[in-house]
Amino acid sequence: MKIGIIGGGQLGQMLAISALKMGHTVIVLDPNQKCPASQYAEVIVAEYKDEMKVQELCDACDVVTYEFENVPASVVERDKIPQGFRPLALSQNRNVEKQNARNAGLLVNKTYMIQRLEDLEIASKQIGLPLLLKTASGGYDGKGQIWVDAVEEYDVLKVECIAEEIIEFDYEISVIAIRGFDGSVVTLPVPRNIHKNNILHMSVVPNEDEFVNTLAKNYAKQLLVNSEIYGICAIEFFVKGDQVYFNEMAPRPHNSGHYSIEGCDFSQFDLALKAILKEELPEPSLLQPTIMVNYLGQHVDQIKHCNEGVIHDYGKEEARKNRKMGHITFINKTEAEVTKIWEELTGESE
Ligand code: AMP
Repeated sequence: MKIGIIGGGQLGQMLAISALKMGHTVIVLDPNQKCPASQYAEVIVAEYKDEMKVQELCDACDVVTYEFENVPASVVERDKIPQGFRPLALSQNRNVEKQNARNAGLLVNKTYMIQRLEDLEIASKQIGLPLLLKTASGGYDGKGQIWVDAVEEYDVLKVECIAEEIIEFDYEISVIAIRGFDGSVVTLPVPRNIHKNNILHMSVVPNEDEFVNTLAKNYAKQLLVNSEIYGICAIEFFVKGDQVYFNEMAPRPHNSGHYSIEGCDFSQFDLALKAILKEELPEPSLLQPTIMVNYLGQHVDQIKHCNEGVIHDYGKEEARKNRKMGHITFINKTEAEVTKIWEELTGESE
């Protein structure tokens, strides 16, 4: 089959590698001819919102998917794109996303939609201070996020925002769920995710708390089924005691699922592809304890000295600070061992 992917970043790259392994070929659509996926796929060079080029991609492929959330609706409502716009419509705006999760019966922190300063006043009474103020759309890795101690004018208030209750969580997890077009849902083993400066640093699998894992997996299934989402979807949660709060969802492969390439019998990329190809979905199993660590622009030189783990270099040309450049997967190592390796390599402590 010929598979099309809108977006040729690292997620598109790893989807393409998986597709080649399964005997398919890939075309990606990306504004950059030398995007990470270009090593494994033909590239249609175009902006994501270029409808004619997206149609060209659809015409050239048997099936098409996307690797990021911010694709406009008009672009993805096409016969060749089975996931369609629905999962994007439910995740592009944080106010919609949280309300949808609530409607699906998940536990969600208190939130309030903010369109002007007066709304922040009401939110501060309903939620309490401090609260988190985030832009409703477009933010990632903690960008567009402000910790609010007092009601006053903030720069982000120029666009629609969400005010959120701060959860003093014990730790963070994610569930990567894949829903087939026959309605069945499978989930990957649950990683515990550690962030540094709001950027995912490490995913440790398995998370030790089985009660929490089962609850989170059930929530994920509930969300996909009640929201009528098909294909892959990653859902992030905060864990506080036995409570599992929905944070956000992304209808694409997720950084916290990269461990599954080495860690599972079927990776998140294999399963995402199987879903859109309408193949039966196997329930993935963990082969061995696995830890994934991201490396960023500032780590590239030091990573050259790493001789442990499996290094995935995304092949990005420019190593900017805090830009995700690759990841390393460690098999059968403890978190303490991986932390030590990381500290020795980079000089960074936890
Ligand atoms: P987000 O982009 O919403 O996933 O936020 C990035 C990170 O900020 C999350 O992974 C959390 O570590 C933290 N964070 C976001 N929202 C909250 C919240 N309501 N309470 C506590 N921490 C949060």
